Amino acid sequence: MTYTLACKDTGTDCPYVARGETKEEMMEDAVKHVKETHGYTDEQINDPKMQEKVKAAIKEE
Ligand SMILES: [Zn+2]
Repeated sequence: MTYTLACKDTGTDCPYVARGETKEEMMEDAVKHVKETHGYTDEQINDPKMQEKVKAAIKEE
């Protein structure tokens, strides 16, 4: 099982797709990406509205 999260599904115009064998691994990749590429802070990432968007955008392959 691979978990993926397309950056664009969280409201950006970005082609990046985070991947991981577990949700935790995939989230680590996603968090690293949005911090480095989009300059997100922990506060923005942990915002309940953002967390909801992220939850809805996670796909299992
Ligand atoms: Zn992105």
